[in-house]
Amino acid sequence: MSTVPTKAILDLEDQHGAHNYHPLPVVLREGEGAWVTDADGRRYLDLLSAYSAMNFGHRHPRLVAAAHKQLDQLTLTSRAFHNDQLGYFCAELAELAGMDAVLPMNTGAEAVETAIKAARKWGYQKKGVAAESARIIVFDGNFHGRTTTIISFSTDATARDDFGPYTPGFDIVAYGDADAVRNAITDNTVAVLVEPVQGEAGVLLPPDGWLTELRQICDDNNMLFIADEIQSGLGRTGHTFACDHEGVRPDIYILGKALGGGILPLSAIVADRAVMDVFKPGQHGSTFGGNPLACAVGREVIAMLKTGEWQDRALELEKHLIERLESLDPSMIKELRVRGLWAGVELSDKAPSARLVCERMAAEGVLCKETHVTTVRIAPPLTITPAELDHAVEVFARALAA
Ligand SMILES: *Cc1c(COP(=O)(O)O)cnc(C)c1O
Repeated sequence: MSTVPTKAILDLEDQHGAHNYHPLPVVLREGEGAWVTDADGRRYLDLLSAYSAMNFGHRHPRLVAAAHKQLDQLTLTSRAFHNDQLGYFCAELAELAGMDAVLPMNTGAEAVETAIKAARKWGYQKKGVAAESARIIVFDGNFHGRTTTIISFSTDATARDDFGPYTPGFDIVAYGDADAVRNAITDNTVAVLVEPVQGEAGVLLPPDGWLTELRQICDDNNMLFIADEIQSGLGRTGHTFACDHEGVRPDIYILGKALGGGILPLSAIVADRAVMDVFKPGQHGSTFGGNPLACAVGREVIAMLKTGEWQDRALELEKHLIERLESLDPSMIKELRVRGLWAGVELSDKAPSARLVCERMAAEGVLCKETHVTTVRIAPPLTITPAELDHAVEVFARALAA
């Protein structure tokens, strides 16, 4: 038990922290697997997994051991020197993705920036686009991170307003609409940047076949297909990548979140040489990118994913989750969207707000986070058991009914 009352901790954060988040009022102190414990010793089932950064659960023993081992050896070198983990990390991640090469960064937003820079340089150097005129097609409702360039093409006013002037060069079209993509293409279009499932938008699934069509459009128009798999990738959807659902191979994968095992920030882009080699020494980088500590943890994540067990588990739990969610009062549910162990439950007008549902669930020991006003997102660690899922959905049902 903490010696400091929860209220005092919340007050400290309120007084001295920036107010750029609106968290549920729980103060967590410990975590193990799918469970977390608050400062007063109360336990909660985690149905958010830090937005899929915790795919393998809190403090997975293999990941913690890899981190400890590396902590005792070497943690940071900068890229001024080589370290003995980076090469293995790149080789192993490239193999997992079936591509040639890896460029590591730290946060997801940095990896998205890396992909944008790669696509623009590729456009100028390989496609022959005139200087300063490269364009990238992006989608309504996208979430790709918080940097100034990335929020420049956000369609969420909260994320974007009053942060201008904005970075030009992006065309926003409707998610799931292939004709809208075709109509937005110009000779200067170098890439399409897409979330194969839109996570922050509420686990929005594209129409069947759309990713395949998008792949074809990119091939026909000499454009790069960039898949932002930061939230959807690495097991969550029942596949290594959400693009695998349609057997689509992008030109660039953007990875983050679970890549760092929930221990450190670790992100990367993965691509073939023809794209990756647009970067020459000095043209891009990061002090912490590719540090040996993050690489050692990332290597263990990759080793865990290599067997396919986690992906299979997500598929099995998907069936169970759908079955259970379908037992909820249908008058409260407008739409159910599920892919792997990942669900967006769109509440009806009759239901309480998603925020209120999440607050009620937290009071009963189940942590979820609303997205927008009407969607409850469910993305538990892949370590969760069917019985724990049952319990979570029972609590969900009570929160809807209360
Ligand atoms: C979380 C997320 C990002 C940004 O990652 P950060 O590590 O928060 O910068 C980018 N794209 C998608 C799809 C995400 O879910």
